[in-house]
Amino acid sequence: MKYDVVIIGSGPGGYVSAIRFAQLGFKTALIEKYNTLGGTCLNVGCIPSKALLDSSEHYHEAAHNFLKHGISIDNLKVDMAKMIERKAQVVSQTCDGIKYLMDKNKIEVHQGLGSFVDNTHIKVTDADGKDTILETTYVVIATGSKPNFFPGMVPDKKRIITSTEALELKEVPNKMIVIGGGVIGLELGSVYARLGCKVEVLEFASSIIPTMDKALGKELTKVLKKEGFKFHLQTQVKNVENTGKGVKVTALNKKKEEVTFEADYCLVAVGRKPYTTGLGLENIGIETDKRGMIETNHQLQTKVSNVYAIGDVVKGPMLAHKASEEGVFVAELLAGQKPHFNYNLIPGVVYTWPEVAAVGKTEEELKAEGVNYKVGSFPMKALGRSRASMDLMGFVKILADAETDEVLGVHMIGARAADMIMEAVIAMEYRASAEDIARICHPHPTFTEAIKEAALDATGKIAIHI
Ligand code: FAD
Ligand code: NAD
Repeated sequence: MKYDVVIIGSGPGGYVSAIRFAQLGFKTALIEKYNTLGGTCLNVGCIPSKALLDSSEHYHEAAHNFLKHGISIDNLKVDMAKMIERKAQVVSQTCDGIKYLMDKNKIEVHQGLGSFVDNTHIKVTDADGKDTILETTYVVIATGSKPNFFPGMVPDKKRIITSTEALELKEVPNKMIVIGGGVIGLELGSVYARLGCKVEVLEFASSIIPTMDKALGKELTKVLKKEGFKFHLQTQVKNVENTGKGVKVTALNKKKEEVTFEADYCLVAVGRKPYTTGLGLENIGIETDKRGMIETNHQLQTKVSNVYAIGDVVKGPMLAHKASEEGVFVAELLAGQKPHFNYNLIPGVVYTWPEVAAVGKTEEELKAEGVNYKVGSFPMKALGRSRASMDLMGFVKILADAETDEVLGVHMIGARAADMIMEAVIAMEYRASAEDIARICHPHPTFTEAIKEAALDATGKIAIHI
């Protein structure tokens, strides 16, 4: 079979790229080794984690806040099996949706492991070991990533688990140790903390979400402590042992003393690594860097000129929307268009409640770069909308250039921050000043008023509601 383009991997990078290629008239094939489409994101990532985050937040609200709203419920309890079943339904409907889109766009899907024979021939090996060879002009590698771990914390997938198993637990554990205070640790830790599990986070760095603006980590620590989280920062895990009924974790605390923790489960959430196993990159002379990533030029082209790579397998934040934008970029580029993707404006979100969201430079980055900046901020608790819904924690912080007033970074923690951040992304894409945002009429009462007020503060004018 001869194609214009073969895409290996059906995650948000691969399947979105396939659709755009097909829309642009390319004869397109998509290879996926699993029997469902959608990759990490749809099967064991973004979608199932958000399904469980929503379910657990409903329970938490009912248990802790409904009475204050004048609603009482007797015998409130968690049915874990039902919660996991709902999550599975959400996943399967979403994956079926991708199958529908492939058919609609006449994309040929081949199930099996894709590997390079040479740069224009891809072998697909199905579950029975049968090989099919696809001939193609272009190839897009979109093979994504897998959970990372370090020596001493090798997941056994029973008690020492990764995010994949944490999305499938049959019980609410009494206690869970989470290694890594990053996005996965805090999102999945939140799911179980809200359901009544004692969650203790062991983090190597001196704050949680250490790559985001420091103010966010500080506020999120307060929020999560209220939810019952315990944090052990500057803690270096040495060993994790499955004791049969649980786990024993040995670590060095910040004073370098040995400390031990016992729990039912240990979730290892110390980042993800690019996945290229079995891809046969050696057959076309492509090597990976020391982190396992495929190197590309700024147009996502590998050193083999007809082979491109996108998503988690190449550098940049490991985010679904980044993978998808890169998939569209390559398709439009090969169709002769002049696509544009602004890597400085990829928003990041942590789906705790309240949510954390950010775009652009952090205050720490601006300091390190010697940029002369000013800060405007506004607390969520000063908004009428926040009081109405009892979502009082958090703030919006805007960083703007001290001379030009151009917005350089927006960092927020608050109810619906995941959606609110798009106002900042759009403003920054059009290179708005803080004053531009401050002069835009925002609907009342909404959480977005905090963005307007923080922008007012950044311009040096005084925010209204404080
Ligand atoms: P993937 O989604 O990993 O897809 C790669 C696909 O390629 C897989 O299906 C794999 O089976 C297939 N494959 C690999 N090798 C081969 C081969 N040789 N032949 C055939 N098929 C192959 N990101 C967000 O933006 N927002 C979120 O809320 C979010 N939540 C997350 C929650 C969790 C728990 C996790 C683990 C991740 C989350 N992410 C989130 C990250 C997001 O899932 C990834 O950034 C995204 O899936 C990367 O897309 P991709 O297309 O590059 O790769
Ligand atoms: P992460 O990079 O967000 O966090 C890993 C954390 O582990 C960091 O805080 C790091 O300092 C810490 N760490 C590293 N080694 C350690 C060690 N030995 N001991 C203790 N702590 C250690 O990675 P993650 O949470 O595993 O998520 C992986 C990827 O998936 C991320 O790139 C993220 O972007 C993506 N993801 C995104 C979302 C989202 O967008 N909402 C959700 C989940 C995952």
